[in-house]
Amino acid sequence: MKPSAYAETLKALEARVRIELELMNHPAVPWVPQRQHPSGAPIYDVAIVGAGQAGLSILFALGRENITNVIALDRSPAGQEGPWMTYARMNMLRTNKNVTGPALGFPSLTPRAWYTAKYSPEAWEALERISRTEWQEYLNWYRRVLELPVLNETEAGPLEPEHPDDATSLIQIPLNATGPSGETGIIYAREVILANGLEGCGEWHVPELISENLPIDRYVQANTKFDFGDLRSKRVTVVGANASGFDAAAVALENGSTHVDLLVRRRKIPKINAHRPLDTNTWHRHFADLDAATRWRLMVHIMQNNQPPPQDSFDRARALPGFQIHEDFAIQSIGIKDDEITIKSEKGMTLGADFIIAATGFICDFKLRVETSEIAQHIALWSDRYTPPPETDWKPMGTYPWLEGGFAFQEKEPGTAPWLHHVYCFSLGTKPSLGLTGGSASSIRFAVPRLIQDVSRQLFLDDQDHHTAALHKHNGIDLTL
Ligand SMILES: Cc1cc2nc3c(=O)[nH]c(=O)nc-3n(C[C@H](O)[C@H](O)[C@H](O)COP(=O)(O)OP(=O)(O)OC[C@H]3O[C@@H](n4cnc5c(N)ncnc54)[C@H](O)[C@@H]3O)c2cc1C
Repeated sequence: MKPSAYAETLKALEARVRIELELMNHPAVPWVPQRQHPSGAPIYDVAIVGAGQAGLSILFALGRENITNVIALDRSPAGQEGPWMTYARMNMLRTNKNVTGPALGFPSLTPRAWYTAKYSPEAWEALERISRTEWQEYLNWYRRVLELPVLNETEAGPLEPEHPDDATSLIQIPLNATGPSGETGIIYAREVILANGLEGCGEWHVPELISENLPIDRYVQANTKFDFGDLRSKRVTVVGANASGFDAAAVALENGSTHVDLLVRRRKIPKINAHRPLDTNTWHRHFADLDAATRWRLMVHIMQNNQPPPQDSFDRARALPGFQIHEDFAIQSIGIKDDEITIKSEKGMTLGADFIIAATGFICDFKLRVETSEIAQHIALWSDRYTPPPETDWKPMGTYPWLEGGFAFQEKEPGTAPWLHHVYCFSLGTKPSLGLTGGSASSIRFAVPRLIQDVSRQLFLDDQDHHTAALHKHNGIDLTL
């Protein structure tokens, strides 16, 4: 098809979205019986923590299933959710531009439809990959055109069961306003989905070697909102050779840092993206169908080999004067003397710096997060359920949640938290159990329908008496004689 076949304005596209939604709107009956809380507090059928691309897609998918008493909560202001406008610093997404992301089967909701309507079919043809800021603009448009119910500037947590011995307990969610449009109080939900970011199973990590040896104003985690103007005329060391490390190095130099050393622990920066094969129908659909030993072995291989920075992030940093990569630089010690940071490698090399940026990934630890701090002790982890053979024994992966084919948390000790299956993990914590799921742009298409099937099943089963009674009572007349 010629590109011009797609030409339309954004207004026309929005009209097409509405028509497509209407054409696909069968059956159109909300079906979950509503409940009242004795305190008068709201009870949602589903509450989602996080309104990034995952939270928005889940809201849309729930609506398609006529599960309408739902809300997504996000501590960020509207339009600032997720990494894109705050701590992501790349120019373009790593993801292929043809990804369908949150469109969930609706052609008019794809990034391509939006981009083509906003610019032109020719602009789409010429586009290499979608830019970070345009991706957020697309998500803003998606939220607006679908009229999704999001409460911004509202932090959720700590979650707790209302009745800890009851398998059908509501989940209590304290809310704390983080800005003028937010709310403070308590709400309840029957099902809670943690679409709380890639790192939603823990936090972005700064190694103790850095945090225990330097004052807090001399380092930052790369995935943090941070004013790079503060690094003007400073020598910066970036620890870690991932995408965020290269992007941070580039932004530091673009903001006037005099020099950036980027330290790579491995002998060489990886050139092969071990994650790449996962981004296919094969693995999106079927990783979770493998037995535990195979999933563990594959995911250890993938996570240990990881992925190189995208070519454009690498080229952007490398083109800047003052940028230097140090491969095979495993840090032995870090100290500060006479205001200068000294970093020594295990091989005896020494570097000086004024500031350190730790591009050192995230750790999985549910205790560290406000939303899961009170339920963390009940969540089954891989280390509780699986003992790997010595050759693939890799401690970090034992900290990931053990999920059983779906996204619902499993109890560490069966019978001690019978309500826990009402809380669903939709961060990258799902990786060893389910493969590449959560909210990444390429996995949404596969992960969200699977999640919705589980949530819908749970809502139905918990109300089965109501539904079966209603079915027996049904006396609507189809035929008049
Ligand atoms: C630098 C960088 C580059 C990336 N590039 C890509 C890429 O090119 N392609 C790709 O697919 N993925 C990329 N990712 C991964 C990316 O983070 C995810 O794909 C995407 O953001 C996941 O969407 P999400 O909705 O799951 O999480 P997020 O977009 O992170 O949204 C989670 C939301 O949850 C909110 N939240 C968390 N806890 C709470 C709480 N307790 N209360 C209220 N709100 C809360 C946060 O405020 C946040 O807005 C990148 C990540 C980083 C860090």
